[in-house]
Amino acid sequence: MTSQLTRNPGQACERKYDLIIVGGGIHGAMLALESTHLGLTPLLLEKEDFGGATSFNSLRLIHGGFRYLQTFDYARLKRSAAERRWFLAKFPHLVKPLPCMVPLYGKGLRRRSALNLALRSYDFLTRDRNIDLPPDRNIPAGKILSVDETIRDFCLVDQNGLQGSAVWYDGYVENSQRMIIDALRIACQNGATVLNYTEAKQLVSDSDRARGVVAHDHATNTDYTFRADIIINVAGPWCRDLAKHFDRDEKILFRSMLAWNILFDRDPVSDNGIAVTAGKAGSSHTYFLVPWRNKLLAGTGQAPWLHKSRRACPTRGQILNFIEDLNSAIPGLHLNPAEITYTFSGLQSATTEGGKDFVTRDVVFDHSSKGGVQGLFSVSGVKLTTSRYTAEKALRVIFPSKNWKDSSQDGISESLSDNSHIWDFSKNGELKPYGWEDGLKQLIGEESVIHLDDLVFRRTTLWETPGQAIDIAPELCSLFGWDRDKSEYEIKRVADLVNNKRTN
Ligand SMILES: Cc1cc2nc3c(=O)[nH]c(=O)nc-3n(C[C@H](O)[C@H](O)[C@H](O)COP(=O)(O)OP(=O)(O)OC[C@H]3O[C@@H](n4cnc5c(N)ncnc54)[C@H](O)[C@@H]3O)c2cc1C
Repeated sequence: MTSQLTRNPGQACERKYDLIIVGGGIHGAMLALESTHLGLTPLLLEKEDFGGATSFNSLRLIHGGFRYLQTFDYARLKRSAAERRWFLAKFPHLVKPLPCMVPLYGKGLRRRSALNLALRSYDFLTRDRNIDLPPDRNIPAGKILSVDETIRDFCLVDQNGLQGSAVWYDGYVENSQRMIIDALRIACQNGATVLNYTEAKQLVSDSDRARGVVAHDHATNTDYTFRADIIINVAGPWCRDLAKHFDRDEKILFRSMLAWNILFDRDPVSDNGIAVTAGKAGSSHTYFLVPWRNKLLAGTGQAPWLHKSRRACPTRGQILNFIEDLNSAIPGLHLNPAEITYTFSGLQSATTEGGKDFVTRDVVFDHSSKGGVQGLFSVSGVKLTTSRYTAEKALRVIFPSKNWKDSSQDGISESLSDNSHIWDFSKNGELKPYGWEDGLKQLIGEESVIHLDDLVFRRTTLWETPGQAIDIAPELCSLFGWDRDKSEYEIKRVADLVNNKRTN
């Protein structure tokens, strides 16, 4: 077995798999990983690049569930804390604890006494949160800070009526793309096959029993038939359309709403994540400002989404409102649209058609339970945080007789080495450190890099300094051995993406 992502659709269609996973976002990656721990052989098909859709656009928080105390949702709180521990234990080179602060003004639930009680309750409910974690990945107890301490850690805080702040800890994965690639590499090492740029087009069935899918390889413009008796549709925002195309519509799978985060070319407002409520009359939306690689990442904007074919991104008006909200929540902030480096946006599932509130529970739908195709399942997840859990839940439904091994024996952390010296160009400090070409050639050879933007956006951090990425793009193309026409085409793809501030 190899931990490389080997892309050979012609060879991949020669054998039969235990399951085919359609969709290579975080949920597809976790299904591939977890199914190999059950001894299964999965094939994962992704129509574009791995992790390039919704999963690229998240705020990258691995929630610890503190916020679910507000709604007394203890099950979700415990689940999130357990998954935070899993991510910190399995991907310690990518996930770290993030202190999160909410300033307190003595109103409603945001009173010192209420928050103190909440933090103590949370610490008790998650008292097993650090089992098996390395010391530098431990989640400390929450705390209440005084007014002076709050101003020290968040100097722009609105001091009018300030009574202090509460601090708790979430997990943070700066580079969720690398986490998806690493998860896929381990899955491949354990027997999975994963193909990007391979779009599932038709279900193959006989007598209403799934037998495989016909998929189109966009790299060679060729159709292939892949065989398995279990098909899992985990196509994120596309999962409902695919469920309908393969078998039948099921409303609960996905009702689209728009969500976005904006990266500003501005120093972070604090080393902590900061939760603030917009001060504008009539608004009560809580925003989160995260220090992201020396820049300021703010989210999450939410809006209804009723368009079928438009690119999922906010309008300029929605972005201006978002900025106005942030500026009203933090009086000295004065953000302006010219500071936008990148708008991360995507579709999430809403509680109602045309609504703008996130659903909180994942869905595992067995098509045969409503008289549909046997062996076909559609899965819709709600969070990066719970993606592994959703995968486990689906696999328990689909393969009830399989025995789950203790996750401490899955060998994930042992299989991973920190290769950030190859892909983390910000950490390297210089654009072309010694040996950079060899490192990138290794990624190109081992990680199914088909287009230049795969390398720039989802295998390395090159996209974070767009000007430099464009400057060295011709040299990057030469690593692939592309001719002039192909290089120009690939550089244009990257330029379109890095210049993209994404508004409608
Ligand atoms: C703005 C925003 C902020 C968020 N912040 C957080 C956060 O801080 N923490 C958190 O836990 N969660 C967060 N989330 C939620 C989280 O990002 C999503 O739940 C998660 O990324 C969804 O992953 P997915 O695999 O279901 O979907 P996707 O990542 O969209 O993957 C689905 C994949 O299926 C592929 N596909 C579709 N059709 C086909 C086909 N026919 N054949 C092959 N492939 C196909 C697509 O190309 C796509 O890559 C956020 C989401 C958004 C939008």
